[in-house]
Amino acid sequence: MELVMLKFHLAKTMAAPLRLLLEDTSRYLKSFELFLDRSSEHQCMQDFIHNSLPDILGSIGGGRPVFNVMGVGSGTGEIDLDILAQLHMKHPHVKVNNEVVEPSTDMLHKYKVLVSKTPNLDYINFTWNKMTASEFEKHWQEKNLGKKMDFIHLIQMLYYVKDPEATVSFFRSLLDKDGKLLIILGSGEGGWAKLSKTYRAALCNPEISQCVTTGDIKTFLDTKGIQYTKYVLQSHMDITECFTEGDEVGKLLLDFLTQVIDFSKNAPEDLKKGVLDLLRHPDCSKEVDGRIMFNSSMEAVVVEA
Ligand code: SAH
Repeated sequence: MELVMLKFHLAKTMAAPLRLLLEDTSRYLKSFELFLDRSSEHQCMQDFIHNSLPDILGSIGGGRPVFNVMGVGSGTGEIDLDILAQLHMKHPHVKVNNEVVEPSTDMLHKYKVLVSKTPNLDYINFTWNKMTASEFEKHWQEKNLGKKMDFIHLIQMLYYVKDPEATVSFFRSLLDKDGKLLIILGSGEGGWAKLSKTYRAALCNPEISQCVTTGDIKTFLDTKGIQYTKYVLQSHMDITECFTEGDEVGKLLLDFLTQVIDFSKNAPEDLKKGVLDLLRHPDCSKEVDGRIMFNSSMEAVVVEA
């Protein structure tokens, strides 16, 4: 009898374990798209791709007629196609083999639809690898593909691998001698870092490297003596709805910020309150015309071969 009572008590008081947003691919896609809509994320990346990347792209390829390019964690492909368009402007006569590494069926589908709707992509041959970065590494080694790459990008995806340093090392090892590796992640100084470092124990899943920032990557590259150039991408995200209890937009944005499925429902009250207070704190956000704008700044790191 006592045991039954105890079980009942535990069931009532124990919070459900927080599940990683990535486990629910359709909710991940929905909250990712809402995040893109509410943030200047892709606009900032595009500014970087249009203003700083062309010179970098101009220096690769060694005059060869075909370039090998790779996008890892490409998502729905908008940024990848923008990079490929800049590459084409710099090297108009070059053909491109573009490897896409992306584990989500939903994301890959959207990417393929985007390709089918985008004119003038005849110079690109797409290879679709529906797999994670580590599955791809195994696949590459098993197939013994000695092919060297001219340009590889890992954009906003290193959070989802177990060992970001090993992942960077592997992809860098695929570069040709004048190839470049582009990494974009939340910066060590922005709101993402503040949030994930404050609530590391509660929010960061030990199976992946969820809390990684460009600060960690730069430390790793410095230790190894690897050359790189960095660029700051000042971005922000409107999180106003997160502070309206029960708001559907707010719930999805909170899921993306914490990377937890239905955070508002599943997180214990004290964690929820702590996260919301921190999101509103000047370390993370500021109020502009009555809206709460989260500092979602990123950095781009361009790594030499
Ligand atoms: N680069 C895109 C998408 C970023 S979202 C952009 O900036 O718009 C992160 C992407 O990484 C998602 O598409 C997700 O499906 C993918 N991803 C998740 N785990 C991954 C893994 N282990 N290896 C490679 N990609 C992964």
